Amino acid sequence: MTPTIAKVFFICCVAGWWLIRLPHERKVRKNAIKTDQRDRTELLLLGISLTGLGIIPIAYVFTGFPAFAERAFVPALAWLGIVPGLFSLWLFWRTHKDLGRNWSVSLEVRDKHELITGGVYRYVRHPMYSAFFLWAIAQFLLLPNWVAGLSGIVGFGTLYLFRVGREEKLMLDAFGEEYRAYMERTARVLPWVH
Ligand code: SAH
Repeated sequence: MTPTIAKVFFICCVAGWWLIRLPHERKVRKNAIKTDQRDRTELLLLGISLTGLGIIPIAYVFTGFPAFAERAFVPALAWLGIVPGLFSLWLFWRTHKDLGRNWSVSLEVRDKHELITGGVYRYVRHPMYSAFFLWAIAQFLLLPNWVAGLSGIVGFGTLYLFRVGREEKLMLDAFGEEYRAYMERTARVLPWVH
């Protein structure tokens, strides 16, 4: 394992991520939006998350910026990073499959919104966020740079902290008792950790 291989693997994951998401963006357009909470806070949070998980690490891979934050490359850590990287992509694919037309990049309830509690949603109620955390861990293990390695955890962590409560409130408003019962039997991002 060399730094270049680790970086190439990371970029392949980015490509895989887009290949999984793009068809969904097209598909969900057919399911109109009923309640939209895409306010300024949401857009800011999405921007912070995208910067941390995507823009900073991609810029680092191609330019080496920021050079001052370079750390020693540890092959064993990079090997280890392949595991959460692949698991993240798989989970990302599964959550899109399970959530289907109910998915949206922001906080929204759609016209024909169905509450999903099956598939990977049986184990945790935010498996797509679990996938992003796994991605952030892979990013840290694969990229030998303190800023580019940690920006995913900081960026996505910020979105998660400020969004998850609002999302659950939106779901409670839309699905009431059904979502409350679902909350009682599931954890947020880590199975069995309530
Ligand atoms: N937090 C979830 C979904 C992320 S996508 C996860 O991590 O897997 C965000 C959108 O999904 C929100 O707009 C919300 O309307 C919708 N959503 C969240 N949980 C849902 C569920 N269990 N069933 C259907 N839609 C859900």
